[in-house]
Amino acid sequence: MYFSEFGFDDDLMDGIDAMGYETATPVQEQVIPHIIAGRDIIAAAQTGTGKTAAFLLPVLHKLLSQQHDEHSINALIVVPTRELAVQIAQTLEGITYYTSISFISVYGGTGGALFAAERKALEKGADIVICTPGRMISHLNMGYVKLDGLRYLILDEADRMLDMGFYEDIIKIISYLPAQRQNLLFSATMPPAMRKLANTILKNPAEINIAISKPPEQIAQGAFLVYEPQKIPLVKFVLEQAEFGSVLIFCSSKLSVKKLYEELRKAKFSVGNIQSDLEQDQREQVLLDFRSRKLKIIVATDILSRGIDIEDIDLVINYDVPHDGEDYVHRIGRTARAATKGTAYTFVTDKELYKFQKIEKLIGTDVPRQVVPEQFGPAPAETIASKSKSKSSNKKRKFKRGGPGKGTQGGGA
Ligand code: AMP
Repeated sequence: MYFSEFGFDDDLMDGIDAMGYETATPVQEQVIPHIIAGRDIIAAAQTGTGKTAAFLLPVLHKLLSQQHDEHSINALIVVPTRELAVQIAQTLEGITYYTSISFISVYGGTGGALFAAERKALEKGADIVICTPGRMISHLNMGYVKLDGLRYLILDEADRMLDMGFYEDIIKIISYLPAQRQNLLFSATMPPAMRKLANTILKNPAEINIAISKPPEQIAQGAFLVYEPQKIPLVKFVLEQAEFGSVLIFCSSKLSVKKLYEELRKAKFSVGNIQSDLEQDQREQVLLDFRSRKLKIIVATDILSRGIDIEDIDLVINYDVPHDGEDYVHRIGRTARAATKGTAYTFVTDKELYKFQKIEKLIGTDVPRQVVPEQFGPAPAETIASKSKSKSSNKKRKFKRGGPGKGTQGGGA
């Protein structure tokens, strides 16, 4: 479906053209007509599906084509992380370029001067406010934020917000909003807690399910069974084996991020790191350098695995096994965006093997095992007892230059 078929405002269409969007993605095709018709939405859609434009475009169209108070906050987008807030603001900047729509981002960790600037903007009013929950509550507590003219509430990456313990904050924010409003809830997964949140805030919502809990097929996946001390030398080995343009390495703790980052830096790799001990502007600089190809490798905690759209990643390495299947799909989904090919390796220690096997079950894929090269010493053996796999799929594979083979669904051959 072409964007021209939605009947969007002309100035908005100019922005859509400038962004290079021509046809709507599936989530956009399904969600946009409901939002224009005024329905509440609950949508299961992951990053990479075009979900941001799916809620921004119809809300912008309605703001542009209907009378609205320019001095009040018309739409509030609540997101789990600063990075996602920044990314949504960037998309807004592009698509509202030819319009008079105003917007501001409100997120924590950026010092007193910025808080004052946010306060000023909030007092003045902006058509759209993008916020993280904690920071918004800080402003709301001061009493100067007027939300009585609000028409649209959007919760993005709602499952992530619940994981991060923001349920009470969200409910508190909602207590400041007028009862008459349109609610749009986007979430990658739909755990039971999400149903509870949805039942509390949505009225007769249209349900849309675009979630792909399987990794795209063009990602060549591989798993190395390793002992912990083998990980750093193996990362270096993998990075040296083939020419990867840009690489993301995920660790589950900031300590491992720092350690691996230091090791790679010492070994003269072009590497940056992102973890919560860095200031917001340092994190943004790393992302900027990575996007502009000044940096080839980022070592990061999970902060980056969702919500952030970095394109053209060639290789994702899970330095630790992700928390669950959804996280695994999110992490490796950083590669092979927009139908390009990508490689994803996961390092699995003997202690993490059961967890990894559970993930494989969840995503319905046997991830081909890669043989740890002999120079790293003996690696842990696959323990078959905890999973029933065919013999052939358990065969060890030789590590090849250029990564594992494609077509990893269900066999690993
Ligand atoms: P999202 O899932 O919102 O993070 O979007 C993923 C990426 O797809 C972003 O880089 C968007 O700019 C891009 N995008 C969103 N909608 C479209 C579209 N209809 N056509 C092409 N690219 C799009």
